[in-house]
Amino acid sequence: MDSRQVRQKYLDFFQKKGHAIIPSAPLVPKDDPTVLFTTAGMHPLVPYLMGEPHPLGKRLASVQKCLRTDDIEEVGDMRHFTFFEMLGNWSLGDYFKKEALNWSFEFLTDKKWLNLDPKRVYATVFAGNKDAPLDKESIKIWQEIFEKAGIKAEVGNAKKGWQSGRIFVYEDNWWGPAGQTGPCGPDSEMFYDTGLPHDKKFGRVCHPNCDCGRFVEIWNDVFMQFNKKANGSFESLKQKNVDTGMGFERVVAIMEFLDGKIKIPDPFQTELFSSMIRIIELKSRKKYENYPKEFRIILDHLRAAVFVISDGIESSNKDRGYVLRKLITRMMMNKHKLGDFNNKRVINETIDIYKEFYPEIGKNKLKIFKEFEKEEERFETIWEKSRKLLKRKGGLETGGKIKNGKRVIDGRIAFDLEQTHGIKPEILEELLTMQTKDTYELDRENYLVAKKKHQKISREGAKQRFAGGLQDHSEETAKLHTAAHLLHEALRRILGEHVQQVGSNITAERLRFDFSHPEKLTDEQIKKIEDLVNEQIKKNLKVTKKVMGLTEAKKQGALAFFGQRYGEKVNVYKIGFFSKEVCAGPHVDFTGGLGQFTIEKEESCGAGKRRIYGVLK
Ligand code: ATP
Ligand code: MG
Repeated sequence: MDSRQVRQKYLDFFQKKGHAIIPSAPLVPKDDPTVLFTTAGMHPLVPYLMGEPHPLGKRLASVQKCLRTDDIEEVGDMRHFTFFEMLGNWSLGDYFKKEALNWSFEFLTDKKWLNLDPKRVYATVFAGNKDAPLDKESIKIWQEIFEKAGIKAEVGNAKKGWQSGRIFVYEDNWWGPAGQTGPCGPDSEMFYDTGLPHDKKFGRVCHPNCDCGRFVEIWNDVFMQFNKKANGSFESLKQKNVDTGMGFERVVAIMEFLDGKIKIPDPFQTELFSSMIRIIELKSRKKYENYPKEFRIILDHLRAAVFVISDGIESSNKDRGYVLRKLITRMMMNKHKLGDFNNKRVINETIDIYKEFYPEIGKNKLKIFKEFEKEEERFETIWEKSRKLLKRKGGLETGGKIKNGKRVIDGRIAFDLEQTHGIKPEILEELLTMQTKDTYELDRENYLVAKKKHQKISREGAKQRFAGGLQDHSEETAKLHTAAHLLHEALRRILGEHVQQVGSNITAERLRFDFSHPEKLTDEQIKKIEDLVNEQIKKNLKVTKKVMGLTEAKKQGALAFFGQRYGEKVNVYKIGFFSKEVCAGPHVDFTGGLGQFTIEKEESCGAGKRRIYGVLK
């Protein structure tokens, strides 16, 4: 049975049971701001599950494209994709547990349909918790179903392993709402026993919910009885619904495995991906069997990106756009792991395979190629950038620190890369890790410090622009800003109290300070001013900030530059006992690190006004 037949049989079966077939909704939900992408077939149906009548009736079935960003880290195993197709059937206040479970079992095991060996099928049921009770009804229905198939169905004990029963109960058997609110309820899942040996890494014994891969969850029947409200409480739904979801790729893998086409039920080895694998093997001269994880990530992320683009998303550093960017970036990283190759043919093949079922993929072919090209180019820049960083010895790490066996990435550098090239720290960690034999981890603390500082500086910078203030966000400007306060006070002490600031402009290289004064400064005055400033720097005075009302600030004798508009509350920066001034900042914490202050130029800038250019060396 090929993949085309699996889709068709599913829809035929449920059509025979009175269901209307509905088309797949787009990956981007239309009116639901609580989620980025459609994560399950029920998603587009939420209004109908909540009680609105559906134009096609109470029984519906579909093949829905889904994207689960939560599963991105899982990709690489034999069961998880970010993008996958979900086969689903629904009862909108019509049939309930009995029909749903019976039909699921019939479709899986009947000769006319999937013809799975009933002895290989296991069921799980909700164990109950503080919100809802054990689902005894589903246990009873399953026992009847298995009995009819000649199988004695005991309720097993997961701790004793799968041999202890046929039906297992777990607290996990609860399907939460797709967003933060919405319909939910207990569920019953069906597993296929592949018969593969248990992997002890995942636990002493194997049972349906064990993650070792022996048992594959293929189908989930959710019995929606509740609505989760924004305050976290549950209310009964007006109608009781059934919402089911079956993983298409997983089923195709089991069918090919049973047909003997593949040796293990690995969806990536099925006809859904085999032609893509052949292209990658040819291009990279690497074998899938030697690099299964890298191949799977490339195949999954590439396919997901194709679908996301064709549903109208463009890469960016935010929300859906970032998901797309991350998919392509991780795909590129894994391509590099295989030695890099041109993947145009893989994209083309993916489009060719899916355009028959999803015509939008064919229609958007050009757009898909363009977006890939753009993002791939962007990635190559990042790749080169990170390689250079690695070569620059010690430049990347916080003093060569190693924490928990991982090399520490200096958060300031990471933040800088994020600002200039849009490389998010999580991507940088992965990039560096894959380019070396070491594992890299961000120094989150100094990253956050850098980020906070930047946010503060940009905020203040916006305010400052009015006065022609900050133009640059570097540490140098903070230093020069503090130096300007020292200069202001020194001018007043040397030249007299009539001195008042009338303007200023600070770049990373120099400060410009305009003030009221009737005549040109003498060389002697300039020397005295410089000396006074440098004296304060040497004293390593503490810079402190206090927020207060402007009137209070003036009362306390803080200098204020009246060319600037102040809000109700102002920051008063005190530098030791030397200076007190109203200012938006930013400033260094101590004057000790400022260096040597020199006045480079002194000139007139209008009647009764002088201008000083000063630098720190
Ligand atoms: P699992 O526990 O295996 O991650 P799940 O509990 O998240 O699955 P459901 O939310 O119940 O799965 O989704 C319904 C069906 O969709 C599952 O029974 C499974 O067959 C399939 N499915 C779920 N997640 C994925 C995925 N990431 N990739 C492929 N198929 C999936
Ligand atoms: Mg599940």
